Amino acid sequence: MTSQDTTAPAQPPRRRGIQYALTVIRTEQLTPHLVRVHLGGDGFDAYIADADPERLAATDTYSKLLFAKPELGLTPPYDLETLRETLPLEDLPVRRTYTIRSINEAEKTLAIDFVVHGSDGIAGPWAAAAQPGDVVSLSGPGGKFAPSQDPSVQRLLLGDDSAIPAIAAALEAMPADAVGRAIIEVGDANDEIPLTHPAGVDVTWLHRAGAVHGIPLVEAAQALPRPEATDDPDAEIEVFSHGERSAMKQLRRLLHNEWGIDRRALSLSAYWALGRAEDGFQAEKREPVGKIFDE
Ligand SMILES: Cc1cc2nc3c(=O)[nH]c(=O)nc-3n(C[C@H](O)[C@H](O)[C@H](O)COP(=O)(O)OP(=O)(O)OC[C@H]3O[C@@H](n4cnc5c(N)ncnc54)[C@H](O)[C@@H]3O)c2cc1C
Repeated sequence: MTSQDTTAPAQPPRRRGIQYALTVIRTEQLTPHLVRVHLGGDGFDAYIADADPERLAATDTYSKLLFAKPELGLTPPYDLETLRETLPLEDLPVRRTYTIRSINEAEKTLAIDFVVHGSDGIAGPWAAAAQPGDVVSLSGPGGKFAPSQDPSVQRLLLGDDSAIPAIAAALEAMPADAVGRAIIEVGDANDEIPLTHPAGVDVTWLHRAGAVHGIPLVEAAQALPRPEATDDPDAEIEVFSHGERSAMKQLRRLLHNEWGIDRRALSLSAYWALGRAEDGFQAEKREPVGKIFDE
């Protein structure tokens, strides 16, 4: 730098729209409805090197995965610009959003836990059938939640199967003396997985047992007393709540409107919507039906 330089060195521009082609290394059936896919291969180093470190350090780090119709014989990464000019809309690759559950730098792999929710959809069935050597295209990571390291914070984590990876990562990143509770809704006892969590954070698994997605979670939250900060007068409340859209809207009413928890203390969003493929669900985020908070 010369004496005439008055500005900080230019940051490299964020690489938007870049795809990283990662290869399935192995899969693990965690429960009947949750499959962990370990991805690695040639694209791994660039995925990590290009990533914003703050996003990688979040516990809800996520990427968008792109899936092309197998019968088109396309290979990732996809030249979307050209494909948009040459393919009908219904044949374009589709995006699905997934939490990066963990990154293993030594093994050069990252793990994604996919809910296998039946034969509907694209990503769930893809994960259920994934084989070593399959290749998938990922966007660079997003994400912003990381649990406070202040032990006086009172925590509440709420979610369904789709939020298990983010909740599990948040629990692991809390200080050992953290306090609060996590409530996770799954189909039945077979869908529970072991979680590592501070002794002071109580973990409850709820079973849908045939109920509509989200109802048991909402009812359990409604039955709770408002979490109060601990004895520390400066203590705060921290909420992480993600899952099915209708459930998240009802939880927003409880947490924000009724309990008066400040929006800044709430990490609250819809991860999916019952009866909506992700394409429709993401598009609706711009409409009243898709908004969790009324702007
Ligand atoms: C930031 C973020 C992080 C996410 N992290 C994860 C994650 O780590 N693991 C994960 O499994 N999901 C995660 N999701 C949710 C995931 O993106 C959606 O579930 C997505 O719709 C699945 O795509 P699909 O192709 O399988 O089904 P789609 O084609 O999108 O939907 C087909 C049908 O399946 C239904 N459906 C979709 N998801 C579910 C579900 N979970 N349970 C029951 N029915 C469903 C839809 O309502 C629709 O009727 C995350 C979403 C976001 C926004």
